Amino acid sequence: MAIHENLKELLKKIPKGSTLIAVSKTQPLEKIQEAYDCGQRVFGENRAQEMAAKYEALPKDIDWHMIGHLQTNKVKYIAPFVSLIHSIDSLKLLEEVNRQGAKVNRVIPCLLQIHIAAEETKFGFSREEALDVFRTGTSMDLKNVMLTGLMGMATFTDDQDQIREEFRGLKKLFDEVRAIAPDPEVVRDLSMGMSNDYSIAIEEGSTMVRVGTAIFGAREQGKRAL
Ligand SMILES: *Cc1c(COP(=O)(O)O)cnc(C)c1O
Repeated sequence: MAIHENLKELLKKIPKGSTLIAVSKTQPLEKIQEAYDCGQRVFGENRAQEMAAKYEALPKDIDWHMIGHLQTNKVKYIAPFVSLIHSIDSLKLLEEVNRQGAKVNRVIPCLLQIHIAAEETKFGFSREEALDVFRTGTSMDLKNVMLTGLMGMATFTDDQDQIREEFRGLKKLFDEVRAIAPDPEVVRDLSMGMSNDYSIAIEEGSTMVRVGTAIFGAREQGKRAL
């Protein structure tokens, strides 16, 4: 199906209060422009330099979200413009985002990535670590970042019950974090759900779904757009 039909179908299933992030990693500029021309304004990328190049080339009213593992030495490429970093997986990275945010005089919104999947390889904080970060208000000392919520990826499995359980656990943690955060109104983003599990994620309280394949079709393995 064409991008505009995919977007239309998706938007029917995503409630008004939730944001659709079109995951455009590895996709060429023309495809992103096509989605933009359908009204889509929020795009997700997982490589800092690719995102910076796309930012330069495409309309400036796009909101660029970093959703992939971010190395500290790459933060500088996106700090001037990134709208939200979903993938804060260490305090070291949060501190570097703060440092780069200060350099460009911005407060950069960030989500803590929580390890909810059964797989060993996924990055992220544990529940306890996340509660600590919000409880101790670590973010309060860091004036150029703002923690606005949590992100998680479910296990890659066909077991819908397992996926639902993992999302439910993340929503529960989100509510706990909100309850202890020094500034609860700021904690408003729960980023969960991808092409294969966004419906479950929405049922379990997601406010941001990150969908790539279901909009743009399959990515070419190993391909880089720029
Ligand atoms: C690639 C990616 C997505 C989108 O995956 P699809 O299955 O193509 O929808 C979502 N979140 C993260 C963190 C990703 O890396």
